This record gives sequence, structure tokens and C-alpha cells, in this order.
Amino acid sequence: MTAFSTLNALPPELLANLNELGYHTMTPIQAAALPAILEGKDVRAQAKTGSGKTAAFGLGLLQHIEAGRFVTQSLVLCPTRELADQVANELRRLARYLPNIKILTLFGGVPFGAQRDSLQHAPHIIVATPGRLLDHLQKGTVSLQALKTLVLDEADRMLDMGFSDAIVEILGHAPADRQTLLFSATWPEGIAAISTRFQREPLNIEIDSVDALPAVEQQFFEVSRRQKIPLLLSLLSKHQPASCVVFCNTKKDCQEVCDALNEQRQSALALHGDMEQRDRDQTLVRFANGSSRVLVATDVAARGLDIKSLEMVINFELSWDPEVHVHRIGRTARAGESGLAISLCAPEEAQRAAILSEMLALSLDWKEPVISSSFKPLEAEMATLCIDGGKKAKMRPGDILGALTGDIGLDGADIGKIVMHPMHAYVAVRQAVANKAFKQLSQGKIKGKNCRVRLLK
Ligand code: ADP
Ligand code: MG
Repeated sequence: MTAFSTLNALPPELLANLNELGYHTMTPIQAAALPAILEGKDVRAQAKTGSGKTAAFGLGLLQHIEAGRFVTQSLVLCPTRELADQVANELRRLARYLPNIKILTLFGGVPFGAQRDSLQHAPHIIVATPGRLLDHLQKGTVSLQALKTLVLDEADRMLDMGFSDAIVEILGHAPADRQTLLFSATWPEGIAAISTRFQREPLNIEIDSVDALPAVEQQFFEVSRRQKIPLLLSLLSKHQPASCVVFCNTKKDCQEVCDALNEQRQSALALHGDMEQRDRDQTLVRFANGSSRVLVATDVAARGLDIKSLEMVINFELSWDPEVHVHRIGRTARAGESGLAISLCAPEEAQRAAILSEMLALSLDWKEPVISSSFKPLEAEMATLCIDGGKKAKMRPGDILGALTGDIGLDGADIGKIVMHPMHAYVAVRQAVANKAFKQLSQGKIKGKNCRVRLLK
């Protein structure tokens, strides 16, 4: 019932695009709000960060855009420049299937003149902070006369930041027969007043309150970009976690960090979106079975990760999105175990730290970075044998266990997890016996058959 395809108003190209983005089902706020939004109704919604509000209003406003009319038809107001950028980027992703939709961001800190120039040809959609937009309205560089949809995103934060008067004034520039969508994480009186004054019979939606922070000890280190890798090595060396995920914001960082760790004999594997599915699977298997103690991953790549007991999570760089931060650190300390989440922040990430602190109502525990001169290696206990012939070849874990303990004479205690994939079996064995197991298994047989075996290193 929550498939996007149940919404009749969405064209097939858009559904295909959503599928490519990995949006297979609607989030609760989307399921609740989209039908009304697509019909052009006003909606007021209270939903926590990370619940998918952008697509909830974004899909609605995109459906109402007439691409051939070069006038501003939608306006999204956001509290900060970062949020405006995020919303604009998400709208661009959602609009990928539509040719020639112009989306423009307007916020302070950028020269006014440059913005005026890009406004010469009116964008279809403007994403703005209230202060700067008001400047443009007052100077006549923006017109909202043809506006169809007006969105107030993170309305409570906009009021906190003192934008109340600016918002009221902006609303006065928009035509009366527009659609007004109001999104807010909390519902203070000021918001209720704006809703009553500017919305017409809004549909009222409330999705549960802000997620509780997981019970994880969090430490923050301010460190220059260049010192991040040495500090990371020092922290891993000091804490010696059995398993740790290091989150990076980019694939490039992911690979660089992983290489740097391996150079210092810290057993690490990288996981990012450029990898082939098979390599991804192998990496996840090797991390889960103890063949690697550190996984260096991007957020998207780490989504499929299901590891029971992560001792530690390290944010190599802060995420822009507090909710992503919460997801990252929530991967440690599962099932009541204690966990440690460490964040490395370069001075240029100070604003992200401030947003995090504000949105999570958390006072950050800043620690003094100590970079050691030598690093204790972090060696994995296990190694992984990859055997050709998995489920499809009707191979069973017992067959492999039999071969290793029988002919080859390994002790049961030297053998770890055995995981069967369709075409391969992955077996964890203790490092000390890995070479022996590999050689003998390559020469021997499983269930009477010769098998190709590789030792993954
Ligand atoms: P909010 O504005 O409520 O804080 P966002 O709109 O920023 O949340 O969405 C949070 C994350 O969820 C984003 O990374 C977005 O790409 C993703 N997302 C949104 N809708 C879906 C969906 N239906 N399926 C999968 N991911 C989604
Ligand atoms: Mg949002």
C-alpha cells in the first residue's frame, strides 16, 4: 500500500527515477501527505528529521510545475543555507527525469548581484532563506506572482532564528490562491498562528516525535583535515576495537583512509558505492566474520550492514545531516551493549557541529586530540576462504566443515562463520591456520569434488 505507484498522479518516468534513487516505498509522512499534496490541498505536518519530508513536498510541487512557463511557480523557505542546499539537491535528484527545470537557491553570504543575474530568467523553483529572499522581493528582483506552491520547511527553526516577520511579509507577496505546505518538527504557538492565518483547511498530519538518541558515549575531536588520518590511527591503536566502522562522506576519502590504515597494519576494508556487488558482498562477509576489524564506509554503502556488536563508530567527517549522524552512531551499542562514537571535526566543520548540537539538544564533549608517534597494529583474528560453488552447487556448510576438520585436520575452534552465497561459500578460519587450510583445500576435495578456493587478503 505504500508503493509510490499507488499514487495515480505520478507519471511512469518519475516512478522509474524514484526506483533508481532507491525509493521503493513511501515513508510514513510521504504516505500520509502526498495524496493531499498532489491534489493541491494545504497540509501542515509535524515529523522528525530524516522522515523524508523533502520528497513529500518535492514530489508534490514538481507535479504542479509547468516546465514551459518560465515563471517562479514554487518556493521553499528553509532556515539555513545548508538546509536550502540540501533541499535544492534533493529536488534536483527528484526532478532528474524532467528536462529543463530550473531550481535556484537564494541565501545570504553570497553576493546579491550574482543572484540578481541568475534571476534574469526566472527559475521554476526557488529554495531560499527568508532574509535574502525578502531582500530580493523588496528590490523587485524576484516575483512570486505566479506562485502555485509555497513550502515552509523546518518552520519551527525559522521562527527560532527570528524569521517570523520576514515569513509573514513573504507570504504577503504570494497570490492568495496558492497551496501552502508547512513542515515543522515541533509545534509551538507561533507555528499554529502562521498555519491558522495562512493555510486553508489544512490537512493535519502528525508523525511520532524526535527519535531518542541511542545510549552511546560520544567524543568529539577538533583536528585539522591533514591530521585526521594520524589521529584516526592513534585512536584505533589506543582503543584496539574488535570491530569498528569509520564513516566517510565521500568515496575518495573512503579509499584514502582505508589505504592509510592498511599501510600501518590496521586491518581495514573499504565499502563504497563504486564497488561491484560481489566485492561489496565479500567485504561485508569478511568484516562480519572477523577477517577485518575496521570497515571504512560511506553512508549509502553501509546501509545494508547488519553487524550485531560494533564496539566503535568513528566519523571521519561530520555529516551535514544530524539524522545521518544519529544513524551512524546508532550502529554501535545495539542491544544494550556499551559503545563509543568518535567524531573528527576539522575547523571548517564547526557549523555542522553547531547544527548537530542544536538539533539534538546535545552539548558536545570536546576532547584534546593526542597523536601518537607509533601505532600498535590492529590485526584481524580470522581470514576468509572463498570457495567456488555455493547454494547453487548444493554445497552445505556441513560439507565444508567436514572437509576442513576431517582430511585437513583443523580443529573446530579454528573455524569461524561459514556463509553460503548462491555461487560461493565464505569460510572464516584463524589466521594461524589460514595458509595451511587454503593449500590443502585447494588440493583436496569437498563432497568428492575439486573446488577452486581463494584466500581473501
Ligand atoms: P527530513 O526533511 O524529514 O529530515 P529528508 O527529506 O532529508 O528528511 O530525507 C531523509 C533521507 O531519506 C534522505 O537521504 C532521503 O534521500 C531519504 N529518503 C526520503 N524518502 C525516501 C524513501 N521513500 N525511500 C528511501 N529513502 C528516502
Ligand atoms: Mg528536511
